Amino acid sequence: ETLFTAIPMAPRDPILGITEAFHADTNPNKINLGVGVYYDDNGKVPLLKCVQEAEKRITAQGSPHTYLPIDGLPLYDNAVQKLVFGEDNIVLKEKRAATVQAIGGTGALKIGADFLKRFSPDSQVWISNPSWENHRALFEYAGFKVNTYPYYDPASHGVDFNGMIGTLKTLPARSVVILHACCHNPTGADLSDAQWDEVIEVVRDRKLIPFLDMAYQGFSEGIESDGQIVRRFSQRYSPVLVSNSFSKSFSLYGERVGAFSIVAGNADEASRTLSQLKRIIRTNYSNPPIYGAKIVATVLSTPELHQMWENELTGMRVRIHEMRHKLADELTARKYGEDFSFITRQNGMFSYSGLSAEQVERLKNEFSVYIVSTGRICVAALNSHNLNYVVDAIAKIL
Ligand code: PLP
Repeated sequence: ETLFTAIPMAPRDPILGITEAFHADTNPNKINLGVGVYYDDNGKVPLLKCVQEAEKRITAQGSPHTYLPIDGLPLYDNAVQKLVFGEDNIVLKEKRAATVQAIGGTGALKIGADFLKRFSPDSQVWISNPSWENHRALFEYAGFKVNTYPYYDPASHGVDFNGMIGTLKTLPARSVVILHACCHNPTGADLSDAQWDEVIEVVRDRKLIPFLDMAYQGFSEGIESDGQIVRRFSQRYSPVLVSNSFSKSFSLYGERVGAFSIVAGNADEASRTLSQLKRIIRTNYSNPPIYGAKIVATVLSTPELHQMWENELTGMRVRIHEMRHKLADELTARKYGEDFSFITRQNGMFSYSGLSAEQVERLKNEFSVYIVSTGRICVAALNSHNLNYVVDAIAKIL
């Protein structure tokens, strides 16, 4: 018996498995729609101009590679707070929000999870059914029991709101509810404003702990509009926990830029909370990496670069919307009488297509079109060159 005797092989990451199979495929027409990445119309991960410009300025400064403070670059934390909560949010004026730089959206979720385990150890966590595939594992590894609330309604390709709110109404106080602030991953189905109001009411009535995960701010309707739900929550209730990511919105995947924020009831609670968040960071990785945060901070705090970014983000959003409409129109044209309009009602990078695991398997084997077995299509990986091929393939197996 050694340490290694009892170590089983961990299950493979299902999405990385698709990518491996895709790379091994020799069909020149192969298309990978299993990813969670935005590609431009030429099938490339974009390097945003605002990012390039910020990089030039950073390089020109010739700064040394110092340690950052435990909670990150102050200019970054400040800019993120304004972006996520809105510059004129009373919560910021009252100094009730604490924000720390995090290693992407995933790192932000983990800071939040560790914080909750320490200060609300008996809580259980509730995620949507289905949810981003890492939510469950992340909170389980942090020590929580993870449950699901109903979310997706296959019949309408939208949200089973009655199921969702019905379950939330049964949860004990301090249950942690993970909510996708916009562009739900994997389904693309979001709540309406009125439904969000109901959720806020139930969270308040039952004294739940809402944790808003915002990985796609700007991909549904725009920065302002997509951030509304965080703003409304933060003004009506505390605590509110927020994780946000710039992986997609700045196309800075590998630089790992995100943040964790928490809204407390007053400035004193916020400053005590911040001190504890720093302990969590300090004992995990001491302090965050500097480069991505400098890029984002430079862009967000320089008006002309900020504007450039919003324009580029709008470009990404508009391209995805166009792909949604083309996909729906072309499928409708080839499958007369079937309704594909749900694709245009879903938001963000993904669409839950309704394709079965069997159909997904056929798309791979017969057409080298790779999709997650749940039927999640990355609309952001479609482009004017591959759309017809994908539509033909789907129409043939439907
Ligand atoms: N949360 C959700 C809902 C996501 O879809 C993702 C990324 O796919 C993340 C968090 C993680 O973001 P990051 O890649 O910045 O860690």
